[in-house]
Amino acid sequence: MKLYDTLSREKKEIPSPSEKPVITMYSCGPTVYDVTHIGHMRRYVMDDILKRTLRFLGYDVRHVMNITDVGHLTGDDDTGEDKLEKGAAKRGKTVWDVAREYENQFWHTMKELNVKKKDIAVLHATKNIDEMISIIQTLEKKGFTYETDEAIYFDVTKFRDYGKLSGQNMEEKKQAVRDEVHVDSAKKHPADFALWFKRVGRFADHTMHWKSPWGDGFPGWHIECSAMSMKGLKTKTIDIHTGGIDHIPVHHENEIAQSEGATGQKFVNWWVHHAFLQVDGEKMSKSKGNFYTLNDIEKQGIDPLSLRLFFMQAHYRKPMNFTWDAAKAAETSFKELIDVYHNLKKNVGTDTVTDQEKLTGGAVFFLEQFRHDLSNDLNIAGAIGNMWFMLRSNDIPERDKLYILDTIDTVLGLNLAEQKIAAIKIPEDVISLTEAREHARSNKDFQKSDALRRQIEEKGFIVEDTVDGYVIKKK
Ligand SMILES: [Zn+2]
Repeated sequence: MKLYDTLSREKKEIPSPSEKPVITMYSCGPTVYDVTHIGHMRRYVMDDILKRTLRFLGYDVRHVMNITDVGHLTGDDDTGEDKLEKGAAKRGKTVWDVAREYENQFWHTMKELNVKKKDIAVLHATKNIDEMISIIQTLEKKGFTYETDEAIYFDVTKFRDYGKLSGQNMEEKKQAVRDEVHVDSAKKHPADFALWFKRVGRFADHTMHWKSPWGDGFPGWHIECSAMSMKGLKTKTIDIHTGGIDHIPVHHENEIAQSEGATGQKFVNWWVHHAFLQVDGEKMSKSKGNFYTLNDIEKQGIDPLSLRLFFMQAHYRKPMNFTWDAAKAAETSFKELIDVYHNLKKNVGTDTVTDQEKLTGGAVFFLEQFRHDLSNDLNIAGAIGNMWFMLRSNDIPERDKLYILDTIDTVLGLNLAEQKIAAIKIPEDVISLTEAREHARSNKDFQKSDALRRQIEEKGFIVEDTVDGYVIKKK
């Protein structure tokens, strides 16, 4: 498989599974101070597709992700407040409650998108403080750090390759961080970053704090990923490290400096960066009202797995635009795919293909093409296009098509075989509205029943009256 590496700026071949049976993969996880939105959903679904692809191609994948529950400041460059503390103050809750609440919401969202938690080794920053302290001590011994009254900093001028990932030179780095709100006057270079914050000054009341050789305090965000990736994957050199493109200039640059500074070895073989999801052609933001969560998706009657299919329609390195029309079109495609699958199942009956060797030439060619698309820097959009082409082809027997769908669904993760039982999930509120409408109809209150029907439609469903009662369908 060829996978684009941000650092070398080229698609680089991953050695075959016989040469390299195990792939280690680390994903920068969420900072659990706020809700998971559709932008996060795209990122983690595409990570999941990458992992499933590697397995499909014959690799064993070990996947670690962190949960940032301390130390991520509102400015990535050590400025501002701790996101968790800010979130807690805003909601009148403890930082621990905020972290738990949003982490639960994150995993619930992932489950609905068929991103399985049990498939990922999850490490929490607050539970791995000792490992972070240990790396900072190593860096200190090797002369990469300096201490001020406020923090322990990584001295970027000591790391020769600093800036290699983003390609920014030191002057540009200075420019990039000139808008700092809080400046530690003892900081030597604007790009130097905190490894450990002391519980003094602006952080004197910081709720989360631990003892360290540099006094009471808490770790910086960047050191968390270096410590947890190496601990979780039990290696100094990770194969694949994923994150959003926003992480390139600061967070991942700093991860490289810390990790390579401490170990003296290459930190990551393939840096994978996901492009952003826009909404209606704009950056998503709460103030613009174009910030959507799983709940908003479900309220529109859109199955989360339709959204999963939607994300697969764009390449992970290309920006993608979310619109409700596009999401509804994906919903229609998903329902069509489920129909196609179950028709095939019905027609094929027990005459199934159980062995790839028994496939016809056209089917074998399709599977080769599927493999080829995915091996080309995860071209899942191309693979999906070919899938529709294959399904519409008259040259491939139905039993082969069914075998292919079952096979490729291990990568797509749409759970096609299970969809027959719950093809349509009808929300509780739609059911109670429907029952209220039935009640109004039996009382001949047609004005009320019409109003209720409209409310049901607004939620993305329609009620059809049949001789033996009503049927709820998706609009
Ligand atoms: Zn990270």
